[in-house]
Amino acid sequence: VVTLAEKLIFVVIDGLGDRRCRSLFGKTPLEAATKPFLDFFAKNGKVGLVDVVDPSIPPTSESGIFSLLGYDVLKIKIARGPLEALGIGIQPSDELIFRSDFATIRDGIIVDRRAGRIKEGVKELEKEINEKIFLDDVNFIFKSTIAHRGIVIFYSDKFELSEYVSDTDPGATGVPPKLCKPLIIGENEVRTAKAVNEFIRKSHLILNFHKVNLARKAKGLLEANYLLLRGAGIGLPKVRKLPEIYKKFWNCISGSPLEKGISRLVGMNVVDVPEATGDIDTDLKGKAKALFDFFEDYDCFFIHIKGADEAGHDGNCELKKEIIEKIDGEFFSEIFSNVNLRKTIICVTADHATPCELMKHSNDPVPILICGGKIKKDEIDNFSERSCMKGSLGRLKGSSILELLMRELGK
Ligand SMILES: [Zn+2]
Repeated sequence: VVTLAEKLIFVVIDGLGDRRCRSLFGKTPLEAATKPFLDFFAKNGKVGLVDVVDPSIPPTSESGIFSLLGYDVLKIKIARGPLEALGIGIQPSDELIFRSDFATIRDGIIVDRRAGRIKEGVKELEKEINEKIFLDDVNFIFKSTIAHRGIVIFYSDKFELSEYVSDTDPGATGVPPKLCKPLIIGENEVRTAKAVNEFIRKSHLILNFHKVNLARKAKGLLEANYLLLRGAGIGLPKVRKLPEIYKKFWNCISGSPLEKGISRLVGMNVVDVPEATGDIDTDLKGKAKALFDFFEDYDCFFIHIKGADEAGHDGNCELKKEIIEKIDGEFFSEIFSNVNLRKTIICVTADHATPCELMKHSNDPVPILICGGKIKKDEIDNFSERSCMKGSLGRLKGSSILELLMRELGK
């Protein structure tokens, strides 16, 4: 009798994929990293490469995650703002919600899109913005989430806010921020854009002279004196829930609002891991602990690990290599020691590549490994972009992975 595996641990390492780095002597951070546990899983399973969304499209974090969870991202309307709100426990309805980032602007030019990855003082900045700013026709709530990240929720009784307005984040430094503009011609769109621009102008004034920022400047740190907005949306996309599609119960273990929001939307339970900050210093042991605390209660676990992506955005190959080593030593070592591979399927991949040389997401395929249960191993004995090219899984489409994994669980 063939008994199939009972559990799935699906790990997505944000921005893991990369290219050869000069400072790593022509190796990718994943190749250069010492990662005995990931290599063990690769050696005892199958590997391949994944085009997360489409070979021609660099995935965003949201399109990458939706695609890896089996959804056709070209068919659903994804707005990041409402998803991040859901991730921090706010149920979006008719409010207009943006994702926001504290940025540094000087002489009208963006110097840093993440205000030096500010951590301390963000709650004081949040408080001041919420208490000191009043807009003509619109109310708002600004919520800082993790580090430079946040959301802005706009609502109004005076007119119907529209989600058809543009981002103000140009996605680059050395240029001025954009104005929020109507994307279609309509009175509500014009009024919405006007209110958003009013908010940005007023918040800049408050932030620029806030004591938190004056103190940062005095210390030579980048001041968080501007809010860049993107991903405007009203309400959530309608999707079929994973437990309904696959008849399995899912648990999400993630520190970041976006991934938590998407997980909630697709019907997963979401664990609040207090130690997981969703940042480079994220507590990997806390995530492993949460996995084992809930192991008996769920069939499938979706675990999102940040850190590698940030290092890629910062163009820091050595740091990215070190982060991969940390993830291996603090997280995958725990899986290695505590999980019965005969009964559990493990899959490790990425939502997109963030090559250090580009400092942004790319359309490069990303490595994947699957092992456990009845999965036969192939010839490949380590986990890297190059070794996965020769793996027996070949080249997969991101949205096909979950189906493949579910077959191993006897769906
Ligand atoms: Zn990224």
